[in-house]
Amino acid sequence: MQELLERQKGFHRTILIVDDEFIEREMLGAMLQDLYEVIYAENGAVALDLIRKEKMRLSLVILDLHMPELDGYSLLKIIRADSELRRIPVIVLTSEKEAEVTSLQLGAADFITKPYDVPDVIRARVRHSIELAEDSIIIHETERDELTGLFNKEFFFQYGKRLDQQNDQLPMDALVFDINRFHIINELYGKAFGNSILKEIGTRVHEIVSRTGGLACRLSNNCFGIYLPHVEYLHEKLPQYITGLSGSLGDCKISIRMGIYSDDGSGLDMEQRFDRAALTCQKLRNSYTTCFAFYNAELHSKELYSERLLEDMDKALAEGQFRVFYQPKYCICDGTPRLVSAEALTRWHHPEYGAIGPDVFIPLFENNGLIQKLDRYVWNYAAAQIRQWKTEYGVDIPVSVNVSRVDAFNPMLGKILSEITSRNGLENEKLLLEITESAYTDDSRQIIDTVIRLREQGYKIEMDDFGSGYSSLNMLTSLPIDALKLDMHFIRNICGNKKDCRLVGIMIEIARLLNVPVIAEGVETKEQMELLKELGCDIIQGYYFSKPLSAEDFSALIRTEIGV
Ligand code: C2E
Ligand code: CA
Ligand code: CA
Repeated sequence: MQELLERQKGFHRTILIVDDEFIEREMLGAMLQDLYEVIYAENGAVALDLIRKEKMRLSLVILDLHMPELDGYSLLKIIRADSELRRIPVIVLTSEKEAEVTSLQLGAADFITKPYDVPDVIRARVRHSIELAEDSIIIHETERDELTGLFNKEFFFQYGKRLDQQNDQLPMDALVFDINRFHIINELYGKAFGNSILKEIGTRVHEIVSRTGGLACRLSNNCFGIYLPHVEYLHEKLPQYITGLSGSLGDCKISIRMGIYSDDGSGLDMEQRFDRAALTCQKLRNSYTTCFAFYNAELHSKELYSERLLEDMDKALAEGQFRVFYQPKYCICDGTPRLVSAEALTRWHHPEYGAIGPDVFIPLFENNGLIQKLDRYVWNYAAAQIRQWKTEYGVDIPVSVNVSRVDAFNPMLGKILSEITSRNGLENEKLLLEITESAYTDDSRQIIDTVIRLREQGYKIEMDDFGSGYSSLNMLTSLPIDALKLDMHFIRNICGNKKDCRLVGIMIEIARLLNVPVIAEGVETKEQMELLKELGCDIIQGYYFSKPLSAEDFSALIRTEIGV
């Protein structure tokens, strides 16, 4: 059937017959010339020239072993060792049993014995060898990445799994690396140049796995995967080895970053290990000093945890898992400390993880804008609470809320806030706004404009964490604020550290200059409180008086304060 088809298509594969005996060449040729295009060579040297010239066209070489000059064995060895010729199958012509074994060991596809068999048998052997070789080329091509010759992703994982099954005792490393700023190389030098780099890297990687016994693949564009038995300290040498390209690539310097997952016996499958190596590699994206890193399980689980919190946020808001706590602020200007206001602080009661502090989730939410949702939720709660205390106990207790940096840049902020205060029947000055000092230093002009507008609406602004940012004195004097809240860090050591004590003194002086009250937070002891009082601090917030309280506990505190 195959023969018929070939004849019909008029397509003839080319066969080279190499034999120094004219008669033998012609006899064999006669058997094959109906089916194939046959070319001839009368010795090994002529044959080698022809093979090199016709390497793309040749489907088979039929080779006599005994010839003058270059004999059949030597020619066979040359063909098998040459990566460009290796794909051409070779059938040897021989009359000795010994020679059959040797030539098969040297990589011959088959042999034909002299004197010649019936032509049908010879034709069948020829066809079989050609078909086998063509099939294996097709398999090779589907398994391999065309440019680098390394495995493609699919076969890489398939063979990797097989390797694992065969050597389940051998600890394997999963390495993923890519080339830093490869797109720039492509843009600067052209895609062909980029490809030649990939190709050369492919060759280096191939060398590594052939020496260490492993597998390699091109995972995607400029990203490679290597799966190899663990060798101590090998990773330290690999990046340099891989990027030490040959002179032909000029002086274009390339660098790679490599993520490594070393098998720790945790039984992850190969793909999971490569996911982790890839993740580690991605983390190195912005690092120009580190070119490899090992996967860190602790870091990974932290990240998974953060992702989970981000995912759960909407549901948590809808289900009221966020609770607003209130920490009282006391005025210490007169004889006995007097409750004057509170700060609203959020806690998350997660159904699975239990209580989570704001120091964990606020930074996460700040990174992606979710903070605005949470803040709005807290402002609503706090405003409703002020209203409720007023209605229940007839007292005005202003509550300060945290306005994060992202909120401060929202042009709708004034509108959002006034909608909240008016819905709860509150004067705007009852909802105090805490804006952290570092927000001012980020983009002072815009924040100052926002603050000016909010103050025009009647809101009072407290500068939070004062001393932690870098406000210049010059900026401070023109700053429209209503209170300075000292950063807790200074308060912590105020009694033991003279420098901190001096600093707090200076900050209080600055507040005087600005003509605004000073609030100290994080005050835990009587000594701290007394020292602050001496230095002229007006308001104290901290564990010394009270931890942040639930709305019910704060209500109880109000009742004690006013004596009901
Ligand atoms: P912050 O605004 O500086 O709040 C003061 C923090 O100090 C609170 O921590 C409070 O519980 C804690 N604290 C108060 N007194 C003491 C004390 O005597 N000693 C010590 N060691 N700590 C004290 P918390 O509640 O963990 O909040 C941490 C930060 O999270 C807050 O710092 C604030 O920046 C942010 N935050 C909390 N709730 C919200 C919110 O609803 N929205 C926004 N944007 N940020 C919030
Ligand atoms: Ca605050
Ligand atoms: Ca603060």
